Amino acid sequence: MSVWTDLPGQGAVVEQLSRAAASERPTHAWLFTGPPGSGRTNAARAFAAALLCEQPDPDARGCGRCHACHTALNGSNADVMVMVTENVSFTIQEVREWVAKAQDKPSSGRWRIMIVEDADRMAERTTNVLLKAIEEPPPRTIWILCAPSPADVLVTIRSRCRPVGLRTPPQQDVADLLIRRDGADPALAEFAARVSQSHIGIARRLAMDEEARRRRDRIVRLPLRLRGVSDAVVAAGELVEISNADAAAASEARNEAERQALLQTLGAPETGTLPPAIRSQLKQLEEEQKRRAKRAVSDSLDRVMIDLTTFFRDVLTLQLGTGAQLINEQLRSELEAYAGKSTPEQTLGRMDAIAEARRRLSTNVSPVLAMEAMAVSLL
Ligand SMILES: [Zn+2]
Repeated sequence: MSVWTDLPGQGAVVEQLSRAAASERPTHAWLFTGPPGSGRTNAARAFAAALLCEQPDPDARGCGRCHACHTALNGSNADVMVMVTENVSFTIQEVREWVAKAQDKPSSGRWRIMIVEDADRMAERTTNVLLKAIEEPPPRTIWILCAPSPADVLVTIRSRCRPVGLRTPPQQDVADLLIRRDGADPALAEFAARVSQSHIGIARRLAMDEEARRRRDRIVRLPLRLRGVSDAVVAAGELVEISNADAAAASEARNEAERQALLQTLGAPETGTLPPAIRSQLKQLEEEQKRRAKRAVSDSLDRVMIDLTTFFRDVLTLQLGTGAQLINEQLRSELEAYAGKSTPEQTLGRMDAIAEARRRLSTNVSPVLAMEAMAVSLL
């Protein structure tokens, strides 16, 4: 067991990062890229843990057993800060605050590590604030930026960061991780890895949570229920409702895990009143969680659209007879019937309608309106 154990299918990246962690002068700015769900943030946390690991032998760093490794991985290490935004993009104010924090010396470890999730969600003016911080970092600060691909960040940033490219992990590796780490049922783990298209976080929820599976099933069966405009309106409302329920369920599980980890790290008593210092830390965590909840809803809406797209992607696979694996193999007969009643051109048009709704949702249009327009185009 080490900090690298839970990064399925990323052998090359693990080798690169463990070598860097063993060095006494690691590069101070990194750009981690990889498709959503490939484990970008987990890789960044694992790297932070390895950099701070307390093992005396540099080559053994990232042991996964020492206090620094533990706290860096569970999000309670004071020297590891993770920047997330609840908004569609980071505000300049948010970035300024973080840049100021990056000036501090590490509190107990060797480094202060600043992880920026979704570094692509930044306007150019905001990026320039970050750029200055990366160009002239304090000697003990390391920045780790995460984005879907190198092209998603400005070239000025990209050129100052060492690149780390994660790939979409193979389905089997994701399934194995769920079985080993989370104790998932093997058949469910394989199903979840396939329908989530190797998105580790989504696959985990689908494998472990029956309600999440039921919600996804309602989404991908939706095109089968559409007969007329009134069905489309009802379906749109249903999609918004499903994504809200999904966001709430995802946040709830994560929030509770974070709370427990923080209490444990702070050495909180099991019963009785919490000391004021611990209460204030908890309050801080709760505020961060509240900010994140808004973001969870928009992420979840996007996920609904991705799931819906898989239905038409499968229909197209059947219509073109490419013989590729169906994402929704469990719906094969329904998909075949649907494919027989429409043309590839119609299918492509419907996929375009979903893509257009995704684009509109990213501009803060009312979810119900965007979904209604889309559902009508799926008729
Ligand atoms: Zn360690």
